[in-house]
Amino acid sequence: MTGAVAAIAAVLHEKNGDFALEPVRVGPVRDDEVLVRIVATGICHTDLNVRRQSRSMPLPAILGHEGAGVVEAVGAAVTSVTPGDHVVMSYLSCGECAECRSDQPASCDRFGRLCFASARPDGSHAVCGAEGQVLNDRFFGQSSFATHAVVHERGVIPVGHDLALALLAPLGCGVMTGAGAVWNELQVTPGKSFAVFGAGAVGLSALMAARVSGATTIIAVDLVPGRLELARSLGATHVINPLDNPDVVGQIRCMLGDGVDFALDTTGAAKVIEGAFAALRQRGTLGLVACADVRQRLDLPHFALMTGCKRVIGIIEGGGSARAMIARLVDLHRRGQFPFDRLIRTYPFSAINQAAHDCETGDVIKPVLLME
Ligand SMILES: [Zn+2]
Ligand SMILES: [Zn+2]
Repeated sequence: MTGAVAAIAAVLHEKNGDFALEPVRVGPVRDDEVLVRIVATGICHTDLNVRRQSRSMPLPAILGHEGAGVVEAVGAAVTSVTPGDHVVMSYLSCGECAECRSDQPASCDRFGRLCFASARPDGSHAVCGAEGQVLNDRFFGQSSFATHAVVHERGVIPVGHDLALALLAPLGCGVMTGAGAVWNELQVTPGKSFAVFGAGAVGLSALMAARVSGATTIIAVDLVPGRLELARSLGATHVINPLDNPDVVGQIRCMLGDGVDFALDTTGAAKVIEGAFAALRQRGTLGLVACADVRQRLDLPHFALMTGCKRVIGIIEGGGSARAMIARLVDLHRRGQFPFDRLIRTYPFSAINQAAHDCETGDVIKPVLLME
């Protein structure tokens, strides 16, 4: 056990504002919690959606949900990690609902309350300002834009010491979301066709997963030529830039004859999703992993959905279990079959605002902040 520790966090004070590095106090840990010294954290578009409050959260807040680090202290009831362990942090799940009991914690009934409530379930905070000011925390159970975090034991996943934590940090959300969507939910099989809409960190991770699954036609759609080049080098057999030819559905049908078996939207934009649906072949499946605006509605053709025997599925964090996904991703990476390192650009923690800017402009696929 430990008392509160002095730390630095990047605090968001206002909508669309800069992150401000400030001294905070983290802890003490409770019996079922772990104190993690964060070594690296990815920036994900969900952090930026909250910054612009298209997904609202009370401010001031500490965001960040792709943390990786070293366990410094554990509560009395913690059994899965000990001080010194390297861990990747992921979303928090309850461990008690029907989804969790069937080892599907990504679709935990209480996901929203545990990951977006900005406090522990009892309303208390694990972090406060240096003078005791209230800070909204527990983002995805983590709030990893900080040098330290107190997290529930269920939110940390031990990893080996042989891989750099800066490399592993984005596994806890972005990489896992794309790969898990393909493996756990779409269940892409050998010889099938796959199209991903949006070639960012999630989309490119999905693309790599589809290649591992044996998909023989892999199509990437994006507006940024550099991302499409990267997609090609990671296994895309075809790339489409709607700025060159806006008839994306027509191009996919031309490539495949009768549409695509599996499609994944990572943009969250209704028009893109509706196009992805139109590109499906008979019995095709479309997965949705992003939502640009929580009030958005989709306009899908009822008759084509029914008579085409098509499926549209919502996917949180890639579905399944973060623990299983991270183990699989680390194993494939070690064998050279999942080069997620190629998505990453690192920044010092003090450059968080530059990193967020580069993420929003699309200049960088996956920014990772290094705390030291
Ligand atoms: Zn995320
Ligand atoms: Zn649950």
